Amino acid sequence: MQWFFILLFIAVCILAGVLYHHYDLMKAYYKYQTDALERMEKRYDKDLTASNQKVNELQTIAFMNATTNIWNIDYFITQGKKAFTATYDFPPSFTLVAFNIANIGKINQLFGPTEGDKVVYTTAQTLKKLASQHIYAQIYSNLFCILFINCKDEYVTERIEKIYNTLYTHDTNVQIRTAFGIYKIKNTSENIMDMINYATLAQKFVKESDDLCYKFFTNELNQTFLDNKRMSEEMEQALEDHKFMVYLQPMYDLHSYKIISAEALVRWDYPGKGVLSPYAFLPLFESTSLIQKLDYYMWEECMKLIRRWIDNKITPTPITMNISPNHFTNDKFVDYLVEIRDKYLIQNDLIILEIPERGLSTVTPQISQIINRLHDEGFILCIDGFGSLNSPLNLLKDLPIDRIKLDRSFLSKNSTSDEGLTILRYLIAMAKELDFTVITEGIETEEQANMLLEIGCDIGQGYHFSKPVDLRTFDNLNKTLVKAMYRPDEYYPTFEDYTRDLDLIAQFFVNRENSAVE
Ligand code: C2E
Ligand code: MG
Repeated sequence: MQWFFILLFIAVCILAGVLYHHYDLMKAYYKYQTDALERMEKRYDKDLTASNQKVNELQTIAFMNATTNIWNIDYFITQGKKAFTATYDFPPSFTLVAFNIANIGKINQLFGPTEGDKVVYTTAQTLKKLASQHIYAQIYSNLFCILFINCKDEYVTERIEKIYNTLYTHDTNVQIRTAFGIYKIKNTSENIMDMINYATLAQKFVKESDDLCYKFFTNELNQTFLDNKRMSEEMEQALEDHKFMVYLQPMYDLHSYKIISAEALVRWDYPGKGVLSPYAFLPLFESTSLIQKLDYYMWEECMKLIRRWIDNKITPTPITMNISPNHFTNDKFVDYLVEIRDKYLIQNDLIILEIPERGLSTVTPQISQIINRLHDEGFILCIDGFGSLNSPLNLLKDLPIDRIKLDRSFLSKNSTSDEGLTILRYLIAMAKELDFTVITEGIETEEQANMLLEIGCDIGQGYHFSKPVDLRTFDNLNKTLVKAMYRPDEYYPTFEDYTRDLDLIAQFFVNRENSAVE
């Protein structure tokens, strides 16, 4: 019996030992598991922070413009959408402003692309500083946008002027001129890109000469834009259909009152609207490359006209052709002028090239080289609107110019006062001293013509003598035989017609001889 209790005791001890050991094992296992879990949690936290960081970094990369280090178009669209769908205590208002560096082309041309890049960078940094409370971005290289939420118009325009002035005055050598378009958003469900386009459209209507550096988008602006778009689209077809016409305005020798040359001025025979003045379409064409096409067309028509005069044995009148300053980005147009001059076998003294003074306000080495090349090719060069800028004397000194045409406004402004007349007299005297031919345009009265002759002007152009006229009227003015030959329905004869004209002339002589015999 005693042994039984001893054995039971031993068994209980063994069981307790086993259980205790097991408990220890369990404890160790539990600790191991908890530690592992903690380790996992820590690692997970670390991973999560790292991946959040990565997401942020990626997002920043995706939303940042790499070169200027400010927000980009994707950021603008994402943030814009968020703003439009957010909840507000009262009905929100949104204003989208788009702006660009209006003179970036000129800056690149004058100072080179590196300076251009710097200017874009400066603009981006200025925007970042002055629009930090709003959603802003660089949409593409030369387009920046700001989205104002619940801001009054006065505040928006004040911000715009602040950005404009900061950039305009940031460097005395390079004035950054910005132009802003403002679109007041009415329907937030509209596509943001469309909103940007509306603001950009308004911005395009800001002119350098305007007092304000911004324009609000309006329905009228939109209509003008649509009209312009249609006109641009129609232009190519109109060129093909000869809907652009050469009008000639004669220039008179003020001594003999004879026509000594004529200026070619474009007119557009526009369906439903009649004959359009260049003021109705040239500003549009000059803001695009369309002006180059139009000028090429006009120059060739002028060459054809001179060739036709020569072939018809008519003493040709030297023609003055306008050269838009837009051509001065390279000398390709000089090649073209030479090509057509040679194609139609026209002598140099029958072509005068009129370059507007505004195109020569800054004579870059490239412009100077182009002018010199035109001179070397033998073209007669005339500065148009001379005196409309402040530094005309420099032009005369530095460039191989043959003629100057005094600005029309200059004549009307100055002819009324003695002081103005003295300036005009000295200007003409100086130009003649330097051997320039002086032309005055905009002569509207006989008194003006007499006064100009008195103070030394050689050539006059203006309504007093004749308005610009179509070719047939010009030929009549010029009183030459073949003018009577044009078929009455032939509104605008072309080069191809001149062989037919020759037949007509031959026929005319035959008829005349026959009637003389009879
Ligand atoms: P512009 O070269 O200064 O041409 C003279 C302008 O003055 C012409 O206007 C002419 O009609 C106008 N004018 C002439 N005499 C008088 C006058 O006595 N009184 C008044 N009030 N005006 C007078 P237009 O034909 O409307 O041409 C306007 C401008 O359009 C031209 O000014 C020229 O800069 C440009 N232009 C015309 N044709 C062409 C062209 O084929 N190519 C280029 N690039 N520009 C052209
Ligand atoms: Mg002209």
